[in-house]
Amino acid sequence: MMGLMMSSPLTVTSILRHACRFHPHAEIVSRRLDGSIHRYTYAEFGRRVHRLANALARLGVRPGDRVGTLAWNSYRHLEIYYAVSCMGAVCHTINPRLFQDQIAFIVDDAQDSVLLFDTSFTGIVDELAPRVTSVDHYVALCDQESLPQSAAPGLLAYESLIADEPETFPWPALDENAASALCYTSGTTGNPKGVLYSHRSTVVHALAVSGGDWLCIRARDAILPVVPMFHAGAWGIPYAGLMNGAKLVFPGHAMDGASLHALMEGEEATMIAGVPTVWMELLRHLRETGGRLDSVERMMVGGSACPPAMIRTFEEDYDIRVMHGWGMTEMSPVGTLGSLKFHEVRLPAEERYAIQSKQGRPLYGVELRIVDEHGQPLPHDGQTTGMLQVRGPWVVGSYYKNASPHAFTEDGWFDTGDMASVDGEGYLRITDRTKDVIKSGGEWISSIDIENIAVAHPDVAEAACIAVPHEKWAERPLLVVTPQPGKQIDKRQLLAFYEGRVARWWIPNDVVVVEELPHTATGKLSKRSLRERFKNHRWPDSGGG
Ligand code: AMP
Repeated sequence: MMGLMMSSPLTVTSILRHACRFHPHAEIVSRRLDGSIHRYTYAEFGRRVHRLANALARLGVRPGDRVGTLAWNSYRHLEIYYAVSCMGAVCHTINPRLFQDQIAFIVDDAQDSVLLFDTSFTGIVDELAPRVTSVDHYVALCDQESLPQSAAPGLLAYESLIADEPETFPWPALDENAASALCYTSGTTGNPKGVLYSHRSTVVHALAVSGGDWLCIRARDAILPVVPMFHAGAWGIPYAGLMNGAKLVFPGHAMDGASLHALMEGEEATMIAGVPTVWMELLRHLRETGGRLDSVERMMVGGSACPPAMIRTFEEDYDIRVMHGWGMTEMSPVGTLGSLKFHEVRLPAEERYAIQSKQGRPLYGVELRIVDEHGQPLPHDGQTTGMLQVRGPWVVGSYYKNASPHAFTEDGWFDTGDMASVDGEGYLRITDRTKDVIKSGGEWISSIDIENIAVAHPDVAEAACIAVPHEKWAERPLLVVTPQPGKQIDKRQLLAFYEGRVARWWIPNDVVVVEELPHTATGKLSKRSLRERFKNHRWPDSGGG
């Protein structure tokens, strides 16, 4: 027997309608490129979304067409998100930090017909324009007077483009499984792969992350996503925020500690979201200036492992609840988030921090398992480490144009490429990327654990632990660190810091101090380039391990 309830399609259009109708006075605040603040309401946002959809239709954009963006977190980027998806086209966010060749590959692979970009990316567009053939229109996100000199043919100014357009648009009735957005993963090997989100996956993901145990997004919140809208949809906040009527605060290009702090204080942010390196920078600023973050209640940290020392500092010194999460572009992107259960809330601080340092537990909707190299499921005992596989309504089913089919198992799981353990309460602990794991004498060492301990040392700013070939043990861990400003790192003292914190054979064989560590386009440590750089590193003691 079938149920007798209505079957309303879950579309991004339904979020837009709900937001504008029931939260017309909610604010969207953005820092512009010149540092000034732009501020308007959902009602005004909605009117401009309609005007933009009319303008894009006039340029020839039709349902299914891909529209590319190279843009910071800002109100105009949000307008593009909604206008493009709601008119049935596909909003393709491009990461401007990728190499020029990768950007050209991505635009060509997606066959973007329109490219909208912030003027700070004019240089990228100038190099790109002669190389790609699909783009019919280039639009700079500015007014006519600020239009940059550019090699992009027929460059249009966004504000002139939408100025005279009607404030209504006949949104098409969309199939909820129609594509809404496209984002490429910047894999460390091979070409980037496209993840094509649907309206349904986007809405269901936004509903899920809004939940009380997760981002807990309410109409009384002011949410500041530092995580970029060009990377995995800013963790779904542009959708979940509007769905719940929250005030949204966009930092634009200014992601240094001082600018973020000023924006958080000025706009009374209650929830902030970003990667650990951004929060390290913010902490440094707060320490230097004695600044406070009084309005901020909670912060979401993900994208790479959040060092336990950071969780403690934010909680004890700033009274901010830290939620550590894990996800991937392929997962829309949130897979797990850490919030304590009833019986965990009153545990002693050390035990709570130990739980919060894990990457959280799956949201309803995400199924996960760990398997061995033969694909056999392993126990969720908190000890056994295996390859992490996931499935669920907002997990990629296949890559755009069917790239990398081997990432999908025959029984319907997506292979994440991460190594992890899962404990009896469902908490996930990511130990490594499969490619980053250190195999010493046939046993695995977690590079993330080694890095977390290094950054707990007061002299260390950032740390990367990599596998380097070793005569006896096949591989041994090498620790590469940057010092805190004004501090000297004493190798022996740093290695001694590991005593009692990990098994002795996990302690790195050597430490190299560098001025800067390399990062990928998505802000993660680029261990591949470090491995390349240190592949012939001479161990201080050849017997080591
Ligand atoms: P991306 O698709 O660029 O967001 O990268 C996803 C990858 O980032 C995951 O497969 C993990 O390797 C890594 N990652 C994301 N969140 C975390 C986290 N909290 N701890 C450790 N690694 C993470």
